[in-house]
Amino acid sequence: MRRDLKNRVAVITGASSGIGRAAALALAREGARVVLGARRSDRLQEAVEAIRDRGGEARGLQIDVTRPEEVARLVGEAVAAFGRLDILLNNAGVGYFGRVESMPVEDVRYLFEVNVMGTLFGIQAAVPIMRSQRSGHIITVSSVVGKRAAPGYGVYSATKFAQVALSESLRLELADAGIDVSLICPVSTTTEFFEVAASRSRRKFDPAGPIYSAEQVAEVIVRCARRPRPEILVYPPARLMVILNAVSPRLMDRLLAMYWKKVHPGL
Ligand code: NDP
Repeated sequence: MRRDLKNRVAVITGASSGIGRAAALALAREGARVVLGARRSDRLQEAVEAIRDRGGEARGLQIDVTRPEEVARLVGEAVAAFGRLDILLNNAGVGYFGRVESMPVEDVRYLFEVNVMGTLFGIQAAVPIMRSQRSGHIITVSSVVGKRAAPGYGVYSATKFAQVALSESLRLELADAGIDVSLICPVSTTTEFFEVAASRSRRKFDPAGPIYSAEQVAEVIVRCARRPRPEILVYPPARLMVILNAVSPRLMDRLLAMYWKKVHPGL
């Protein structure tokens, strides 16, 4: 059944740029009341004002998803301001490009802290509220590399696989609680992601393959909020890769190796 998003209350992490910002604007356009969280307060404020200028209801809170008490504060802000929590969009994330064998351990920890622990803290803050309402929707932005890893993306992929595992488990754990759990797996999307990842990994890495805009991914998120699905691959033909990988990982290795040599020589 199609859900009306009017007056639904959505919390969005990583809403200061890219997919999170676009999703906040798109959900607000549908009438949802949105609470935006990220570290850069100036960028959050700008997004909140953009939503209010278009007649939407929004609030912003400076938070770091690696701190559970700050994530809980963000979720608490939604309930305090709007009386409930209908959607949690676990979107905050960071990337890294480099080989598994040589990635500095502090960068590995950082990626897990933001992408995995940040997602977990969101879930742990939201579930008790959604359980008491007997309704809610937890949407997590993973990646197509959360379904099949590629060279140079090993640790980042591991964090995205972890998000898939958390969501799959949670979906069954919450099956009787009236709470939906969804995964969104984008392919390359033109956001600040590549710039931020390049600066942390001290290596340039351009998007490759089919490239989407943040707004296109945001529309997929809105569709998912209206009609919850377990998992959406933003680029649908990527499903073939997932199936082929399950049937023959060796063949998938060969295909990926050929493709990667072409698009990312030197990795
Ligand atoms: P952006 O870099 O544009 O956005 C990342 C967001 O995460 C920012 O708002 C950033 O805000 C926030 N963030 C990062 N670290 C923290 C933190 N510690 N606490 C709170 N917020 C944080 O990239 P995208 O929009 O592309 O990324 C959004 C999601 O999409 C990520 O999970 C990413 O892995 C995923 N993804 C992206 C793809 C792409 O090609 N762009 C492809 C597949 C998946 P701030 O710095 O202000 O804290």
